[in-house]
Amino acid sequence: MVEKSREDLVNELVDLLVDSKRTVVFTGAGVSTESGIPDFRSPGGLWTKYDPMDFTYQKFISDREARKRIWHMRETIGFSWRDFQPNAAHIAIAELEKLGKIDCVITQNVDGLHQKAGNSEEKVIQLHGNMQWAKCLTCGSRYRFEEVERWLEQGVEVPDCVQCGGMLKPEGVFFGEAMPVLETMEAERRSKECDLCVVIGSSLVVYPAALMPQYAHNSGAKLVIINEGETDLDGMAHVRIWGKAGPVMEQVVAGLKRRLGPV
Ligand code: NAD
Repeated sequence: MVEKSREDLVNELVDLLVDSKRTVVFTGAGVSTESGIPDFRSPGGLWTKYDPMDFTYQKFISDREARKRIWHMRETIGFSWRDFQPNAAHIAIAELEKLGKIDCVITQNVDGLHQKAGNSEEKVIQLHGNMQWAKCLTCGSRYRFEEVERWLEQGVEVPDCVQCGGMLKPEGVFFGEAMPVLETMEAERRSKECDLCVVIGSSLVVYPAALMPQYAHNSGAKLVIINEGETDLDGMAHVRIWGKAGPVMEQVVAGLKRRLGPV
């Protein structure tokens, strides 16, 4: 069998986008690596630098030293979540929204880069929370991450809630912590109702997030996967594009704009 060229595959995706009434884009850490944020599982990924066991909810709430390590992560891994800018893939996904071509973006990412690229808040479902806010586990008060980081820079070891003295936790979902209920329900509904699901930059091994493309596929939607490495759902994909998210998505949006003509 003759292998399809990148151009043929991109054109197939453009055709699907043109025909789709409801497209869900599902993203993972791979959509943000071109912004300089390491993913977890690739060589050099986050788990080669950090102990995943430090990110359990149980450890965070029960062990002050673990809390201190997490709050001061910037000093260990050398970055803060707010240092990063959207890349070509985020910008292309935001373009898809402007072109009226997406129902929503379901993301496993906690970096906020879809919104920073221009996707509207109400179109982005953050399945694993975010690292732009911290929340008090006692009274629910919320603090912008940069505010908490300022306290850390001023010498605070483990930040507490200013309102009630309760424990602050980043809004990113930790291992062993429940997924946000409303977001999970909404993502499930949108996945089951879409007619096209485009996965970008996810190994699709983290559950229950990885169920979303499966719900879409099982409900009759076409599944497209754009990813550098293998994914667990490659066998289900109608179109499978191997490559970097940024250049592929730029090509997709350019092709779509040519097909849609002046808007
Ligand atoms: P993962 O690390 O399991 O998989 C990432 C996938 O993206 C890999 O298959 C890799 O081959 C691919 N990839 C890497 N760079 C790419 C690129 N430029 N273009 C296309 N593909 C690329 O990530 P996951 O599936 O999202 O699951 C890991 C969990 O890690 C998620 O729950 C997520 O919340 C969390 N996470 C988030 C961030 C972030 O917010 N940016 C970063 C690291 C981890």
